[in-house]
Amino acid sequence: MDVAIAGAGIGGLTAGLALAARGFSVAIHERAERLEEAGAGIQLTPNALNILHALDLGPALEARMVRLEAVRIRKGTNGTLIQRLPLEQCLERWGAPYGVIHRVDLQTVLVEAVRARGIPLQLGREVRTARQDDRQVTLSFVDGGPEVCARILVGADGLWSNLRPLLGLAPPRFARRRAWRAVIPMEDAPALFQGRATGLWLGDSAHCVHYPVRSGEALNLVAVTEDGDAGPGWSTPQSVQKLLPHFASWDERLRALLAGVPQWRTWPLFEGSTGGGMAQGRIALIGDAAHPMLPFMAQGGGAAIEDAAELAAQLAGPDRDDIAARLQAWSRLRVPRIRRIQAEARSNGERYHWRWPLAAARDLGLAVLGGQRMLDRYDWLYGWKPTETA
Ligand SMILES: Cc1cc2nc3c(=O)[nH]c(=O)nc-3n(C[C@H](O)[C@H](O)[C@H](O)COP(=O)(O)OP(=O)(O)OC[C@H]3O[C@@H](n4cnc5c(N)ncnc54)[C@H](O)[C@@H]3O)c2cc1C
Repeated sequence: MDVAIAGAGIGGLTAGLALAARGFSVAIHERAERLEEAGAGIQLTPNALNILHALDLGPALEARMVRLEAVRIRKGTNGTLIQRLPLEQCLERWGAPYGVIHRVDLQTVLVEAVRARGIPLQLGREVRTARQDDRQVTLSFVDGGPEVCARILVGADGLWSNLRPLLGLAPPRFARRRAWRAVIPMEDAPALFQGRATGLWLGDSAHCVHYPVRSGEALNLVAVTEDGDAGPGWSTPQSVQKLLPHFASWDERLRALLAGVPQWRTWPLFEGSTGGGMAQGRIALIGDAAHPMLPFMAQGGGAAIEDAAELAAQLAGPDRDDIAARLQAWSRLRVPRIRRIQAEARSNGERYHWRWPLAAARDLGLAVLGGQRMLDRYDWLYGWKPTETA
């Protein structure tokens, strides 16, 4: 086998599809016994959607996602519109729309494509570690089952990656932020929260994001608060009584929406550095395993998709037998871009939570800049394409 992939999340599944499309033989090993995704949405920006379209997933995605027309940025205290970003331009400008989709729907599209292309996907197989020599990588599994050999290992095993330490990368750091997520029927949301838009509400030490999923039949809600303690757990059920104090002086309509959600779940947010690079010898790390990032640019999944597409392009390029050199070339391309996205996300995370008077200056700056010029600033991000090597 050419490539073994650890993890069947967004990154691992996309890597499987992108590598198979370039003629590599691939197998995916996933820890979970059953494939499940969080009950939450995900924003897919044009850079990510262009790649998924090139993998022939466009029609299946379009059947489930919502194309956004705008991001509406509002003041948390009273809902006043600060600025509108005209996302309806994305298709013409960058070749793909700005889409929002339920994670279960995205996973369904990716898994169905993996199965349709005959890529082996083994469930219930947690990769424990790997060792490599100048010919191959050998994966061992937590269940003690048979080892697997491949020419290349792609570690796509997410935030708590078992493979990250093999590259000498430090564990992810808690970013003192907590995300609260819920999905509710769209009919339960007032008109202010409906439509083909992401709403971004900015306030004192917190912010809130909402957008439609399930072809517009449901509303995805994300509230982000500051928190000194990561606490145990991931996707932990939480009472709304713990959320509401963070939004005490916020717009009454938003508070009522948050208060009406029957079940919130929370995720502590982490960041991790790419350190000395995303590859070593025959092992490459992609997605959250390589670079967990704050979600304030909506790019963690998109970056995993980019990693996968560029990896396939580099491995299919000239000198394809010199795998270590190809992976180093890939890492050199990816690391500066990942650092830039991480830095922008971090800086958004600060700016979104500013208090008066910084918040007033921020809002004035956004109003003066205008939605068009704000969008122009994202050329470097949304216009990205993998290297042409074929
Ligand atoms: C609140 C929030 C909002 C977000 N919003 C967005 C957004 O709008 N847009 C966006 O692009 N991104 C967003 N993200 C980020 C995005 O969810 C992640 O970056 C993305 O899911 C990472 O994909 P991945 O494939 O690297 O990892 P994961 O999705 O975590 O997948 C890892 C997979 O590996 C498996 N696994 C783990 N360990 C092993 C092992 N040892 N062996 C085998 N399998 C293993 C896991 O079971 C899992 O299936 C958001 C994140 C958060 C927390």
